[in-house]
Amino acid sequence: MGRVRRIALVFALLASLLVAPPAAAAERVLGRVEARRAESGGPAPAGCRVPRAMLRFGSRAVGRPWRGRLARGVPFDEETEYAFTWNFPGAYTPNDEWRRYGTERLVLTLHCVLAAYGGRHPELARVGVADLSLPRGGKFGWRYGGLGHASHQNGLDADVLFPRRDLCECPPERPRDVDAERAQELVDAFVAAGAQYVFVSPALYRQGLLRGPRGVVIPLRYHDTHMHVRIRR
Ligand SMILES: [Zn+2]
Repeated sequence: MGRVRRIALVFALLASLLVAPPAAAAERVLGRVEARRAESGGPAPAGCRVPRAMLRFGSRAVGRPWRGRLARGVPFDEETEYAFTWNFPGAYTPNDEWRRYGTERLVLTLHCVLAAYGGRHPELARVGVADLSLPRGGKFGWRYGGLGHASHQNGLDADVLFPRRDLCECPPERPRDVDAERAQELVDAFVAAGAQYVFVSPALYRQGLLRGPRGVVIPLRYHDTHMHVRIRR
């Protein structure tokens, strides 16, 4: 697909989301990134870094990701043209709204990275987004189902499903289900967006199928199905 057509497609995807303020703001982030790329004629710049000037909701990540809360968080959409949401404990989609709150910066970063990915790969499955934080943050442990989360307390964390080779809109059951090339593309995009950490599958990391800057992309147990992205506040 030509560059112009790809850009047009991404805009078309985002135009359908104008009613939701976070998505509209995501369009502006992505628009700026795409405009810069079109100007330079070169490869995409380190994209999806959400500038402070773009933030309007006054979201605040209070305390630490493992002991904190969230003020004025915003929900990630239930689904978009390029993303679906997933509830791990109940294995269903869409994920409950109350499990999908983050700072505006986190929500915009997710929209920007996933919209750009969807624009590059309209033939592939949408990307799954699982838990962010509770509406006001705070403890998100085993009481909420499954293993629960030690972090995910102040709106800076999001779980993003690894894309599957069979294009199922569901989490991979084992590492070999993962489309590692596409998963790496998402890891790279989150790193370029300024993620502080991306925790990934130890099995895929050991095989050299997922990698990234030392101290940023980190193998961690219980991450064979999804990557955990933490952004800076
Ligand atoms: Zn997580």
